[in-house]
Amino acid sequence: MIVEERLVTYLHSLEQENSEILEEIEQAALRDSVPIIRKEMQSFLKVLLAIKRPTRILEVGTAVGFSALLMSEYAPEECTITTIENYEKRIPIARENFKRAGKEQKITLIEGDAMEVLTELSGPYDFIFMDAAKGQYIAYLPEVLRILEPDGVLVSDNVLQDGNIIESRFAVERRDRTIHSRMREYLYTLKHHPDLETSIIPLGDGTAVSVKRNKGR
Ligand code: SAH
Ligand code: MG
Repeated sequence: MIVEERLVTYLHSLEQENSEILEEIEQAALRDSVPIIRKEMQSFLKVLLAIKRPTRILEVGTAVGFSALLMSEYAPEECTITTIENYEKRIPIARENFKRAGKEQKITLIEGDAMEVLTELSGPYDFIFMDAAKGQYIAYLPEVLRILEPDGVLVSDNVLQDGNIIESRFAVERRDRTIHSRMREYLYTLKHHPDLETSIIPLGDGTAVSVKRNKGR
């Protein structure tokens, strides 16, 4: 937890319930330790979607479909979502959840490794939600930027690693060092990339919001 726990508890207490199906899927996910977006990220995504009003969303990391369904509820009616997942245990659960919600026409789940799938997508997308293996974000970035439209929004979740990101490389456990340095490289790149305007926000487990510059304007 990177924000004081009591503050998070208070902010959660202000939240209103989600739709019945989202509540059900969230409960099941928490019970089964599926790492879905937290309350504060949920409400932040709702606001971003209300501002951006995207029509083509790409999500990297479906899990059981919770965030895809939430985005689908809060995006404009005509919006379609493509979401990528490679964990075979979660794929059928996600498909079932999309079906239960009557969203099979709106949400397309692509099975496979995100890196491979990304290279095959042509997009363009106007909103990309990156929420898969944190150590891979830096590798995905060139493909993500290729298929993100000018003025498009990239939201990257879990970028502050429970606060570990501020520790020196030698203070983090050896097994976490690769992911630590890759995430630092990712954040540096987001902040220094000529095509992006990025804000890194200590919300939830840390999120980065980037907008692709529109050079035509
Ligand atoms: N966005 C979801 C949670 C995603 S959890 C929600 O909030 O509801 C991250 C998911 O990314 C996991 O289910 C994991 O299996 C998937 N993932 C990790 N590495 C991946 C890869 N290389 N290719 C595709 N999916 C990957
Ligand atoms: Mg996440």
